Amino acid sequence: MKILVTGGAGYIGSHTTLALLEAGLDVVVLDNLCNSSPVSLSRVEELAARALTFVEGDINDRALLDRVFADHSIDAVMHFAGLKAVGESVAEPLLYYRNNVAGTLTLCEAMAVANVFKLVFSSSATVYGEPGEMPLHEQLPTGSATNPYGQSKVMVERCLSDLGAADPRWSIALLRYFNPIGAHSSGLIGENPNGLPNNLLPYISQVAAGKLAELAVYGNDYQTVDGTGVRDYIHVVDLADGHLKALHAIEAATGVAVWNLGTGVGYSVLQIIEAFEKASGCKIPYRLAARRPGDTAECWADSGKANRELGWQATRGLADMMTDTWRWTRQNPTGYP
Ligand code: NAD
Ligand code: UDP
Repeated sequence: MKILVTGGAGYIGSHTTLALLEAGLDVVVLDNLCNSSPVSLSRVEELAARALTFVEGDINDRALLDRVFADHSIDAVMHFAGLKAVGESVAEPLLYYRNNVAGTLTLCEAMAVANVFKLVFSSSATVYGEPGEMPLHEQLPTGSATNPYGQSKVMVERCLSDLGAADPRWSIALLRYFNPIGAHSSGLIGENPNGLPNNLLPYISQVAAGKLAELAVYGNDYQTVDGTGVRDYIHVVDLADGHLKALHAIEAATGVAVWNLGTGVGYSVLQIIEAFEKASGCKIPYRLAARRPGDTAECWADSGKANRELGWQATRGLADMMTDTWRWTRQNPTGYP
């Protein structure tokens, strides 16, 4: 079985590509490297002791997509390629809608012409907005995302749901990720943000590595365990395993299925700082700052559906996530060379 992985050089895509290769599947990665390094892919090959095929290019390039499908006998697509910086999406909404929404439509058009109808899509818990009940389950309404990034995920989910309803040849998995963190236990692949990190763990890692002076904790007046924001952090290797299980599930099905991928447990920012300090032995200086606009107080998953239908469950706990994040940072203090 051969899988096209768009965005496979990126953080989640590289870990999932490794899981696919380790499971004996063949992989073609298509990535324009706008937010990643090809070194991630050579490290994936080293870890898997197997080769993959890399095509440098853009999902908006229809002629290139047609060539990729003509050159390779692709059975299914895992679609990670997209832009993900919330703040940037507010400043440049067209860039986000072009890349994330129009890019996905171009990909689906090329897939249909090539007779490839199996698709696993990277969605996000952001599609739930702030529903006022926890944990978040798949039946809750979506659409109240507060920024263009989140809206692009809502729109793609809608397009893919309509596509699945219109044509029974499609079999589509919408995977709603909670907060992916951590790295492969080898420390060879991990998250490699460009510029100043937006997300909590990359920021803490850079403070620990001495590249940033202190962490700003955004808000300590939420109705949570200690006033700071609570999230469901999931190890990226567990997330990669969820993709493999979703792929197997859609092999035998048609239509559109939605699965949350989270642990079901929420941790506050202060709890994360404490766990990271314990795992790394580094003190993380922080200051309390105002809430970050658009942030929700708390968010965690009901992943029962993925457990029942995919036989999937996150197995790595908070200590593993912190230890693996720190090993990756220590071994690669400036990211990929
Ligand atoms: P990432 O930026 O590390 O990976 C995305 C990859 O896609 C990068 O390698 C980038 O170069 C590539 N890319 C972007 N636009 C492209 C285009 N037009 N054509 C070809 N390649 C392109 O991000 P990630 O954290 O690995 O996220 C992967 C997917 O998961 C994204 O769709 C993201 O929105 C989604 N997601 C991520 C998170 C998270 O917290 N990391 C949470 C929920 C959903
Ligand atoms: N956060 C923080 N300081 C930072 C980055 C994040 O206090 O520099 C908080 C943020 O307010 C949220 C949690 O950490 O409560 C997770 O934020 P992240 O951006 O990683 O994920 P998201 O907000 O997308 O869930």
